Amino acid sequence: MDLDAIAFNYRYLQTLVAGASCAAVVKADAYGLGIERVAPVLERSGAKEFFVAHVDEGIRLRSVVSAKVRITVLHGPRPDAAAECVQYGLRPVLNSLDQIAVWRSQSVRAGKPLEAVLQVDSGMSRFGLSDGDLDVLHEDEMLMDGLKVSLAMSHLACADAPEHPANGAQRQQMLKMSARLPSAPLSLSASSGIFLGPDYHLDVVRPGAALYGIAPNQTGPNPLSAVVRLQAHVLQIREILPGEGVGYGMTYRPDRPRKIATVAVGYADGFSRHGSGQGCAWFEDISLPILGRVSMDSLIVDISDVPEGRLKADMMVDLIGPRRSVDDVAEAAGTIGYEVLTSLGHRFCREYVGNAETSQKGD
Ligand SMILES: *Cc1c(COP(=O)(O)O)cnc(C)c1O
Repeated sequence: MDLDAIAFNYRYLQTLVAGASCAAVVKADAYGLGIERVAPVLERSGAKEFFVAHVDEGIRLRSVVSAKVRITVLHGPRPDAAAECVQYGLRPVLNSLDQIAVWRSQSVRAGKPLEAVLQVDSGMSRFGLSDGDLDVLHEDEMLMDGLKVSLAMSHLACADAPEHPANGAQRQQMLKMSARLPSAPLSLSASSGIFLGPDYHLDVVRPGAALYGIAPNQTGPNPLSAVVRLQAHVLQIREILPGEGVGYGMTYRPDRPRKIATVAVGYADGFSRHGSGQGCAWFEDISLPILGRVSMDSLIVDISDVPEGRLKADMMVDLIGPRRSVDDVAEAAGTIGYEVLTSLGHRFCREYVGNAETSQKGD
């Protein structure tokens, strides 16, 4: 995990959105990278606002960032966790009339107005208030009593496809709906939305994936720095003859003699079985095609192209690295970089390089 790359990515995005404020999304243990190490780096790089999905994640985050950092809980206050939101200074996103009611009674209990984010559903049908909900709020102003709305947000469904007409439509709908809410700063874009251009930046952007090096779309080279490198040990090397079977189901049989290596990473480590027979590992600048099925704890690669004696048992090969990005691995497994990162297991050790201290100098 390259902490300097995370700091670089944060500052790059903040520069890109100029006048808007760049928050940082660290849900799911900072996309599997480790929130305890990642969040302080983001704070030192200038992030003042963080988003998590669950209240528990917010509580965990609270203990590793300074008290002035604002933490927003995307899933909102569950009735049994609303008191903890107050206790730990977590700002919930209110996604429904029910959640508004929960937070409002919490403010009565707290004896003071409580800050909240209101989410509107601008077209994704996942979270947020509908037009009908806004009608209800208009009819009874009491429903919002005790709420201090400090942000109105929505989320784009198709932002990774810049030409998709839903982007513009959702933006229009978001602006229309937020005009019916108490006046507050606006937030629409996550990582991909930032790259749709300034019209989509509004007041606050909420990148997650881009901070961790995932490409925001497929329209050009990825401008972000790679953060994750995944290496695993070679356990065993052998030579096989034409027709010999490799791995479960013997789905690979070479048509000429091959030299192969068994590598200590498998689907239990988050290296998907859907990547069986797809793509390659790398040893320095030599590609090592993945042969046959990925096992739970190991996979097999073809090392025939490695000059004799260079690669030995106990040496490491790259599964994700300078030659194969998180997005490449995802594509080979028919998924997205988000799922690759958040699936990375807890059996191998996470090593953090760089200290991302340089960003403090200018502060
Ligand atoms: C996860 C999430 C984000 C961050 O999305 P990325 O695509 O990772 O940048 C932002 N906003 C909401 C509501 C989210 O759920």
